This record gives sequence, C-alpha cells and structure tokens, in this order.
Amino acid sequence: MSHSPQPFQPRPQESWVKRSFWLLPGALSLVFVVWIVMWTESNDAKIREAHRQTLIADASSVEAQLAARLDIERARLHDVSSQLSKHSERGDAILARLPVVVAGLDRLWSGLTWLDNDMQMVARAKRATPMRDRSFDEFGIRTYEKSGQAEHLEVPMADASGQPLGKLVARYEITDLLKSTDLVWLNHRYEVNFISELGEVIATTAQPDKSPEGLPYERPLSAFKQTTLRLSPYESAASWRLNPRTMASLAGLLLLGTIASYLTHHEMRQVRRAMDDTQNEAAWRQSMEDSALVGLRARDAEGRILYVNKTLCDMVGYAREALVGLKPPLPFWPPDAVDAMMARNLNTLAGRTPSTGFETRWKHQDGHLIDVMIFEARLVNAAGIHIGWMGSIIDISERKRLEEKDRQHTETLAQHARLNDMGLLASELAHELNQPLTAIVSYSAGLRVAMTKIPTLQADVIAAVEEVHRHARKAGDIVNWIRRQTSRSEPLRRLFDVNTVVAEVIELRKRQIQRVGADLTLDLTTSPSSALIDRIGIEQVVTNLVRNAADAVTGNTGARCIWVQSRVVKGLAQGGQTIAVSVSDNGPGLQGRTIDVLCSTFYSTKADGMGLGLGICRSIVESHGGTLTALERPDGGAQFTFTLPTEPMAAFPPTT
Ligand code: ADP
Repeated sequence: MSHSPQPFQPRPQESWVKRSFWLLPGALSLVFVVWIVMWTESNDAKIREAHRQTLIADASSVEAQLAARLDIERARLHDVSSQLSKHSERGDAILARLPVVVAGLDRLWSGLTWLDNDMQMVARAKRATPMRDRSFDEFGIRTYEKSGQAEHLEVPMADASGQPLGKLVARYEITDLLKSTDLVWLNHRYEVNFISELGEVIATTAQPDKSPEGLPYERPLSAFKQTTLRLSPYESAASWRLNPRTMASLAGLLLLGTIASYLTHHEMRQVRRAMDDTQNEAAWRQSMEDSALVGLRARDAEGRILYVNKTLCDMVGYAREALVGLKPPLPFWPPDAVDAMMARNLNTLAGRTPSTGFETRWKHQDGHLIDVMIFEARLVNAAGIHIGWMGSIIDISERKRLEEKDRQHTETLAQHARLNDMGLLASELAHELNQPLTAIVSYSAGLRVAMTKIPTLQADVIAAVEEVHRHARKAGDIVNWIRRQTSRSEPLRRLFDVNTVVAEVIELRKRQIQRVGADLTLDLTTSPSSALIDRIGIEQVVTNLVRNAADAVTGNTGARCIWVQSRVVKGLAQGGQTIAVSVSDNGPGLQGRTIDVLCSTFYSTKADGMGLGLGICRSIVESHGGTLTALERPDGGAQFTFTLPTEPMAAFPPTT
C-alpha cells in the first residue's frame, strides 16, 4: 500500500512539558535518592527507638530480677524470724545452729543481727569466710570488692502471742548479691555494669574478648541507694543510616540520572534539529512546488491520485482535498472526451506514453477548456520500487491561443494579398474596359443623333440605341468608380436623394428579379432623404443586397418575395436624422449566422459566389458613417438594413 504525501503543515510549538522531558531521568533519580535517604532516616529513628525500648525493658528485667531476689531473701529472713520466735533460747548460739541462718550466711548475708525492742543486740551471727566465689560461667558476673558497699534487709520479730521481740537485720554486700545473681541471659547482648556512687564498677559481665559497640544505657537501681545499672550493647542498633557504600551507590545513581538527562537533552536537541531540518526542507519543497509553473501530480499504479501541487489545483480549479484519492475518470476531463481519455490513461499506466509528452484538453471547474501538455515519468518509492506515475503538466492554452491568433493573422494576410491581387486585377480591368466603354458611349450618342435625322426609322430602334447608351454610361461610371476605389484619389461624394438612387437600382435590376420569378415590393419614404453620398458606391450596396435577396428566394418552391423599403429615422448622434434602407426576402434566412460571419472576406455559400459582396457593402456604408445589419425576418427570410446620415435639404440641392 502506498501513502500519499501529505501537504506541508507547520510544526506546532512544543509545550514546555515536552521540551523539559530531558530533565526526567535526572529528576527521577534525584527523587529516588531523596526518598531513599528520607526512608532510611525514618527507619533508623524507628529502629533506634525500638532498640532503646529493648534496653529499657532489659534494664527493668534486671531490676525486677534483683528485687525478686531481695524479696526471696526477705522471705528467708521471715523464716528465720518465725523459727527464732518459737525458741526461748537467746544468744548467738541459737543463730549458729539454725540451718536457715547458716544457709543465708553462706548464700548472701554477711551478718545477721537480732535487735530487741530497745535496739539492744540479742544475738548475732557473722559469716566466717568470705562468700564463695562463683564461677563466671555460672552466673556470668564478676565483682570487685574494693567498694565494700553494703545494704541490709530487716524484718520485725514477734512471739507466738504477737508481742514484738525486736527485729532481725541481715547485712549483705551488694557485690555478693550481684555475684549470686544469674545474668547469663544478658551476656550475649550486653555488657552489664553496676556502678557505685563513686563511679567505680563494682560488678560487671565484661568479657575480655568482647567489647560493647552500642550506646550504653544507664539507670539508677531502685533496690539500692546510689548504685547505677549500665547496659552496654555489644551490637549497635542495626543502623539503616547510610553508610559510605550506600552513599556512593546513591551518588552514582544520581550521576547516572544526570548523565541520562544530559544524553537525553543532547539527543532531543539532535532530534529537534533534524526535525527542523526536515520541516525546513518540507517547507522549501512545498514553496518550490507551489511556485512552480508546472503542475505536478503523482498517481499510483491504478491511476489513483496520490498528490497534486497547488499549480495543478489552480490549473483545474479543484481543491487538493477534492482531487487526492480520485481514480479515473477524473472530474476535469471534458465529458465528451472521457472515452478517449480513459484509453490514453490505460496507455499511460501501461508505460506506453511518449517521453516527449502529449497534448490534451482538460476542463476547468468553471467550465472553460484548457490545453495542457503532459509528461509522465515513473514514480519510485524509497526502496526504488516502481509504484506509479509522476506527471508534469504545463498549461499551453496561452501558447495555443497565440498559435491560433498567428494562424488567423497569416490567413488574413493571405486574404489581403488575394484582395490586393484582385484589386490590381479590378484596376487593370477597369483601365482596359474604360476605353471600349467610352467608345460605346460616344458611338451610341453619335448613332442616336444620326438616327433621329432618319424620319422612317422606328422609334423603338432609337429607344434601343438610347438604352445601349445609358447602360454603357452606367458601366463606364462603375468602371470609373472601381478605378477610383483602387487609386489614391478622394471618394467623390455629392448630395443625392437616396430614394432616387434606390429606385434607379431597382429599375436596372427589374429584369433579373423577374427572371427568378420574385415579386418585388418597393416602399420608399416620402420624407426628404438627401444624403451626401458616393452614388455609385451606394448603388453597388443596393445592387448587391437586391441580388443576394434574389439569389436567396430562388430556392423557394412557393412565393418568392422581395421587399425594398426606406425610412427616415431619428439619428442617435447630435440629434441628426438617418435614412434606413432595408432589403428583405422570404428566403432561407440567416440560419444563425451573424453579420460578421456573412461579411467575412470570401465567405460564400454559393457555388459561383466570391464572398466579397457583403464585406464591400459594409465598408462602403461604414465609410459614409452608417451601419449594415442583418436580421431574421419574423415570418422567415432575411432582412439587410443599411443606414446613412441624411443632410438638411437647404444645405445642398439634391443632384439627380
Ligand atoms: P456572394 O454573394 O458572392 O456569396 P456575399 O458577400 O454577397 O457573397 O454574400 C455572402 C453570403 O451571405 C452568401 O453566400 C449567402 O450565403 C449569404 N447571404 C447573403 N444575402 C443573403 C440573404 N438575403 N439570405 C440568405 N443568405 C444570404
């Protein structure tokens, strides 16, 4: 399938969004990096908080563990108290004998004192040996004795009846308490330190091969005065904070985005430049095609129009849209030549068009015909495949018109040359005829004078001689007139009564009219009809019109009628008057021919006609300032009318 080339359309201005498209990769990578940073920051804060909560919870657990331990010790002390209250014996020995006391001293207590209500010591027991050092692995804590910080527990004592017997006070070293507290569960996560009020570490779970990394958490222990618990995590909170590698990756991403943006920008500029170039090229091509004097049209292999340029559109008067896509027959083909055009179109599509082009005729949308010269060439696509035909069309109407004008001019020249020859011939003949005619006139005049002297001679013989004399004079006048026409002498014009001139001509032509069997009706105006005329010339006009009328009615099978009429009419110019003489007949009429056609030199429909008569008549009439017109008679036949400007009678007395 072939695509028709679209006419050039200017590219619309790109929106700023489109123009800024190249920023997208850089902007996206920037947004991504910012988002990653913000996301890691917020995640980091959450994790740190969770870590802190775990630390707090673990510290609370340690504290709760110690409190529970002290509660147990207190319960043991109550146990001692209740056992002592059952004994009546007093003194240190009783304490030393009680297993629960021995166990307490062994376990934690550094000393146990029984004070009575007056705070006087009733009995006391002391741990003889320092507390057994538990293995580090068992409880996971190492203590330092240097602080010597001690605490005590005390429980009230009462006898069986409920009478107060004082109180039991158990002293213990904090280090001993810690030493015997199981903190192994914390070992893998924290280094646990108990700090004295002096800031010394009094107990720790520190391991030589491990060092804490996270931020330590401290809180004072509520169970003991001035002792602080410090938890130092071995691992710092799993931080999402951007490490250098991540930072480098993000920076790399940002750089890649920027490079991508730059490359996109570069590429977009290249593409835009290429598009601008293409647009410019298309615009130039369009202007060239539109300004070309040659019409262009591209057609596919089936003859469907793919493309037309403006010149072709102007040539045929159809819009581009109305032509593109059309298949033959095309709208600008003249209807009467469609078949021939179709045949030629098939020839063209078959590649049989002459390379020298061919001439044809198209019809413009407004109806006028145009002559065109068409050159067809093969149309190939980008792959070099022949897909149709490219036609270059030149409007040669003007050339044709000039050629026709030239031909007519040549023809006119030839006619003039013929006329000239004939003029020469006529002049020659007139010259040759002048003498014999003059001789006839002289001899006939002499003969008439001599005959009048013979009394026996019959009158009609004299009349015949007079007739010869009259005709010879007329012929002599005509010959002289012809000589004057062909010579450079001024036309001879005198004031004559036109009616008289017409009547004389009719008189002379009577016999011819009778010969063709025509009825002649003469209807001359009674108004004064004097005009300054070349008499012989006007006689020739009337003679020619009457002869033509007689010729025209010869073909009539029925009545043959000729009417000769004269009328004085008001002239249009300067208020003068005009005499109009018309010669009508009931012959075949003008049959659509105009006076111009009939007056054309050598135009004749008669076998023996010369086609000069009417042309000469018109030139004689026009040389008098009149006109010659031809009309169809309403009842059939033709009416030829010539007009002559009349002259006032007073000015010149008419000559006969
Ligand atoms: P010619 O008489 O030699 O043919 P004209 O110039 O006198 O030349 O006439 C030219 C033509 O005009 C005639 O051949 C004839 O066809 C036509 N014509 C002239 N007069 C008449 C008429 N009265 N009726 C019809 N046709 C006429």
